[in-house]
Amino acid sequence: MHIEESLKLDFKDVLIRPKRSTLTSRAQVELEREFIFRHSQRHYRGVPVIAANMDTTGTLEMANALEPHGLSVALHKHYDVETLVRFFTGLQNKSAVFYSMGITPADYEKFTTVMKQAGSAIEYVCIDVANGYTETFIEFVKKVRQTYPQLTIMAGNVVTGDITEELILAGADIVKVGIGPGSVCTTRKMTGVGYPQLSAIIECADAAHGLGGQICADGGCVVPGDLAKAFGGGADFIMLGGMLAGHDECAGDLVERDGQQYKRFYGMSSKAAMDKYAGGVAKYRASEGKEVLVPYRGPVEQTVQDILGGVRSACTYVGAHKLKELTKRTTFVRVTQQLNESLG
Ligand code: 5GP
Repeated sequence: MHIEESLKLDFKDVLIRPKRSTLTSRAQVELEREFIFRHSQRHYRGVPVIAANMDTTGTLEMANALEPHGLSVALHKHYDVETLVRFFTGLQNKSAVFYSMGITPADYEKFTTVMKQAGSAIEYVCIDVANGYTETFIEFVKKVRQTYPQLTIMAGNVVTGDITEELILAGADIVKVGIGPGSVCTTRKMTGVGYPQLSAIIECADAAHGLGGQICADGGCVVPGDLAKAFGGGADFIMLGGMLAGHDECAGDLVERDGQQYKRFYGMSSKAAMDKYAGGVAKYRASEGKEVLVPYRGPVEQTVQDILGGVRSACTYVGAHKLKELTKRTTFVRVTQQLNESLG
């Protein structure tokens, strides 16, 4: 047994220290980023925020709503072949829409079929599993990289620098970072496994950038300030589930309770999801996700503006003219209290 004594941080443990700035308005802040990916050599330009590939948020409707703002979506993996082919081949400006898959033979077979029909319309692929530390997973990433050298591959989830490097060397362009921080995730409760998300971002970003790769911070953002901290810590992309839940563009019906409207939101390894897609929770495993009702919030547009407004404002506080400069301009201060909640 080994105890790592160095302190690891979550978003709630820090604030960003303001710095002298020449910016006069947050409207001057450029939130788009550009990357040329290490393996695919493809060029990306956009606002690097991605709706999670959960079946509630990773929808076609979400992709259509986020596209005008330059944001991305990782589509959930339960759409059928025909729907996926039609959607990808119909994409107009090729904003980053990710095809998602797990690593089962069935996932790969479906992907092969979609690729045959949609071909070059698919540029981005997200290969994700709850635990990105297995050899099978790394071998799978290698196989996809060898077969499809032109694809930009995002792979995860992991939380440490060593495996981030391994995944990039195996063929991932973007490593997805986060085990246990998600809003509807119960992994930490069920298994005791996890890693404070801000430290995971800082450490994995450092490892990835050293090899010319990128990372996507996945999970745990609950307010726009958390995105500023994640970008400040070195995240190149951020994936959001809970913050984008409850909108018109999310799958699922409205539910009414005591005169209030809600939408269902659940983890992809919750009982709710397993009942829906896998005929229930298999005997050997426990569910590692939960189901919640989130207040209905109308179209996602306003939420997007709030999120981007918050990040823009963070940039002005530290004098970052572009999102790209935010990490360099970020000094975190450790805190014991974030907010004054005396009045609720
Ligand atoms: P959020 O933005 O809601 O905090 O986190 C979204 C992320 O939570 C997803 O992108 C995914 O990585 C993770 N997630 C989604 N469903 C589950 C689940 O059932 N169990 C676990 N452990 N993580 C989940």
